[in-house]
Amino acid sequence: MHPNRDELTALFSRASAHALSFRTSITDRPQRPERSYGEMRQRFEAPVPETGDAGPDVLEELARLAAPGLHATTGPRFFGWVIGGSHPVGVAADWLASAWGQNAGNHTAAPAAAAAEAVAAAWMLDLLHLPRQASVGFVTGATMANFVCLTAARDAVLRHSGWDVEQKGLSGSPPIRVLIGDDAHTTVFSALHYLGFGRDNLARVATDARGAMSMDDFEAKLGEAEGAVIVITQAGQINTGAFDPHQAIVPLARSRDAWIHVDGAFGLWARACPSRASLAQGVEAADSWATDGHKWLQTPYDCGYAFVRDAEAHRRAMTIAASYLPPVNGSERDPSHYVPELSRRARGFATWAMLKHLGRQGVAELVDRHCTLAALMAGLLRAEPGVAILNEVVLNQVLVRFGDAEPADTGDKLTLSTIERLQQDGTCFAGVAKWRDRWAMRLSVIGYSTTEDDIRRSAEAILQCWRDARAQAS
Ligand SMILES: *Cc1c(COP(=O)(O)O)cnc(C)c1O
Repeated sequence: MHPNRDELTALFSRASAHALSFRTSITDRPQRPERSYGEMRQRFEAPVPETGDAGPDVLEELARLAAPGLHATTGPRFFGWVIGGSHPVGVAADWLASAWGQNAGNHTAAPAAAAAEAVAAAWMLDLLHLPRQASVGFVTGATMANFVCLTAARDAVLRHSGWDVEQKGLSGSPPIRVLIGDDAHTTVFSALHYLGFGRDNLARVATDARGAMSMDDFEAKLGEAEGAVIVITQAGQINTGAFDPHQAIVPLARSRDAWIHVDGAFGLWARACPSRASLAQGVEAADSWATDGHKWLQTPYDCGYAFVRDAEAHRRAMTIAASYLPPVNGSERDPSHYVPELSRRARGFATWAMLKHLGRQGVAELVDRHCTLAALMAGLLRAEPGVAILNEVVLNQVLVRFGDAEPADTGDKLTLSTIERLQQDGTCFAGVAKWRDRWAMRLSVIGYSTTEDDIRRSAEAILQCWRDARAQAS
């Protein structure tokens, strides 16, 4: 039976009230969960419900149970991992995507979803200064965006070697060499694994102190490569924010007929910001690009984009065909022709809404502000004795080492103990990372609501934790 208006109001207004109380308290609450996973597991533990509860009661129970285990990832002083802030405008649009229940697989089943996606795709190509004819797939995140782009890459380079992978499969196919930087993101290796590439198929290119590919080693590895070549570069290293030297890499890779793929999960957005765009110069000459919506664009989870210069190669790799679906060669764009899934969430609505809300200037301002604030944070921390910044802060990532003048293992202990204290303190949240065999605190400035005041307050808390850790150790 269809719920009546009162029942729907009871349900939806409760969801809205809970969202409102969470979002309005986020600025002042500890920037961490109150309970651990183990405690939360016990809290949710229950046998299968034999009979169902009323919708509003279920929602109440969910909100009550979840509350102490929610992380403040949408808070202004959350700097853990590279997690965007799920901007309220994107969230509200995403609620509508759920409420409308559109299956965004094709334009016949969901004309509005397919249209919003097509327009948002064109907007992003414009904002990111990528070839306007490139095709765009809306996926769950950069992991899948890398997978989609690399599927197109694999199939296209094999085709170029005279091998039709759709007909013949992979077994017995000509060799492909994949050149990839030593500091590439771990999920790119996962994507390669899904595609049938093993470690023996990869040539890992040495990286410099920043985590960017060394040109000498790149040239050497390219020279040694036999068969077809795929080059995978990075725009925005996950720890340092470094960019591979695209202006040098791309022409060399081109001269070898390689497919060039760029993992720019967050760093690609530097191209939408005039003050940072030079970092990602040369990227536009690649063949495919992966980025996220749920990082710098602040869409709610999950949302990423796969861009491919050769739309035909993209479609060949991903199109799903059946008699009951619109014709594959129809004149209209179908979302499912560019992604692995058929039935899928209408991610285009939240992307469209965020781009419409921020505009070209808003996106540029966001990236510029985060980079400026990251540099401010680095400066405030570096001024304290015993604290070192391990990376050149070119983007929004800051790597901090405590007890830098101490022997390595003492420095490791002091760094980890400072981070533990900070996570207890809750003024802000930062996580750990290992960089060049040493533990560091990693700060990512990427939430839409972070201000200069948040940075100053957080730097003070971090330094207090460091002083306490040092006092305790001595
Ligand atoms: C976050 C990230 C990924 C993985 O993206 P998901 O959205 O988590 O799937 C890949 N590469 C880089 C550089 C990243 O920062």
